[in-house]
Amino acid sequence: MLTALIATMMFKDARPVDTYGLLQAKGNRIVAKDGKPVALQGMSLFWSQWIGKYYTAGTVKWLKDDWKCSIVRAAIAADEGGYLKQPQVELAKAEAVIDAAVKEGIYVIVDWHDHKAEAHTAQSVEFFSAISKKYGKNKNVIYEIYNEPLKVSWKDTIKPYAETVIAAIRKNDPDNLIVVGTPNWSQDVEDVIPNPIKDRNVAYTLHFYAAGHKQYLRDKAQKALNAGIPLVITEWGTVNYDGNGAVDDASTKEWLAFAKKNSLTMCNWSVADKVEGAAVLKPGANTQGNWPASQLTDAGKYVREIIRGWKVR
Ligand code: MG
Repeated sequence: MLTALIATMMFKDARPVDTYGLLQAKGNRIVAKDGKPVALQGMSLFWSQWIGKYYTAGTVKWLKDDWKCSIVRAAIAADEGGYLKQPQVELAKAEAVIDAAVKEGIYVIVDWHDHKAEAHTAQSVEFFSAISKKYGKNKNVIYEIYNEPLKVSWKDTIKPYAETVIAAIRKNDPDNLIVVGTPNWSQDVEDVIPNPIKDRNVAYTLHFYAAGHKQYLRDKAQKALNAGIPLVITEWGTVNYDGNGAVDDASTKEWLAFAKKNSLTMCNWSVADKVEGAAVLKPGANTQGNWPASQLTDAGKYVREIIRGWKVR
């Protein structure tokens, strides 16, 4: 009896999508199929066109098995040499990560990694139409349609873009969660309060970098949450917002407590072997996972422990 219970619990941890099902924005929370909140914890990959070598089944499997990620994020670059230049190449990277996440039973955020998405609406519609047509039936998939808008208007710029892309997704997929970026590098989440999007399953993006973003940003997030706006932290860092500097342990702990209190899902930036503080891998780390401690940076070792110790509930 006890053995069976332990086996069930292990199984539950091993395949989160089997346990929690389709995610749903409900009030200011993301809830599972039982209607209760979940807070997933995982990793974001780096810009796909620059460090696409980690968009592999091996990396996703290792992130689930060893890091205990319940979610991963594919940061599919739009401009800067990404999808706009080579659509089939970048689409294939998204599909590789989605296929791996489906196989492993974890959630996957498909992110249109762009700072000017309103200028690339047609391409974004094309990309998300393809993804939603192929994967709309998979409970694993979360669409993130605009990574980090710059200092543009929520109401007049981001929301109209989002409504166009959401309409395209909903033609193929009536129900999966869609996350929408917010002004000022996905920090001005309170701008959504007077003008939320009308859709059955939408949440909004909050990003933070612990070394630079402190209580004032949590206050903004709390204001949005208190107004019934559901948030997802699709990207966060232990370091400064430019990706550099050292791990800020004290600030990260404050953010984790905030996320726990509000059942916020988080993906850490990033799975990369670039020489910068935010990268979790050392240069040349295995592109198929199986990373020994010697291939992890300080941030990598630190974040791995956070994710391994996190409880979805
Ligand atoms: Mg669906």
